[in-house]
Amino acid sequence: MFKALIATVLLSLISIPGYVEWNGPDPYPRVDWSGAVSELYPLVLDFEKKWGKPLYIRQVYRPSEYGAHLRSAWEIWRWMNGYSYTEGYLCEGFENHIDPEKIKNLSYFDRKFIESEAKKHAFWNWGTPPACRSDHGLGIAVDITPPKDWVQYKKWVDVGASVGLCHYIVGDRPHFAIAEYLPEGTDCKAL
Ligand SMILES: [Zn+2]
Repeated sequence: MFKALIATVLLSLISIPGYVEWNGPDPYPRVDWSGAVSELYPLVLDFEKKWGKPLYIRQVYRPSEYGAHLRSAWEIWRWMNGYSYTEGYLCEGFENHIDPEKIKNLSYFDRKFIESEAKKHAFWNWGTPPACRSDHGLGIAVDITPPKDWVQYKKWVDVGASVGLCHYIVGDRPHFAIAEYLPEGTDCKAL
């Protein structure tokens, strides 16, 4: 109780330039179809039918503000630890990167707070960076638990692509989006 109170007080003192707050419920791993375009659900059903086994949906619609929160926490965490922080999916031309000049004097509590965010969102050094702009915010993307076995995984990506669900972000295994909404020529079998 006391600890929780301290945490709340500390949180209210934290103001990190570039950090985007998120006060709503953590949308992961809740499945919210309400913000999805109408084509998405039927495509996932097609995928499941063709795959022949139940698919485990992990995430569908995710508010863009949540994406911005995730991205900002990741960038500050990377910068704090001396790593690059501008890479990631749809980051070309992205103008909302953190400004290191503004955060060079982070306090001990600021750093602790960002470390706790990194832990909460399971950031790790070689993990896929949160996208700068996410297709989940557009309602055209779905995350599905991938098969662990590599051969099965490849097959699964093929089946998804065959129904029009595009697997296009290298390293982001659960992620598909509707091919029709993506730029022409997108590689839908990126592993
Ligand atoms: Zn995704």
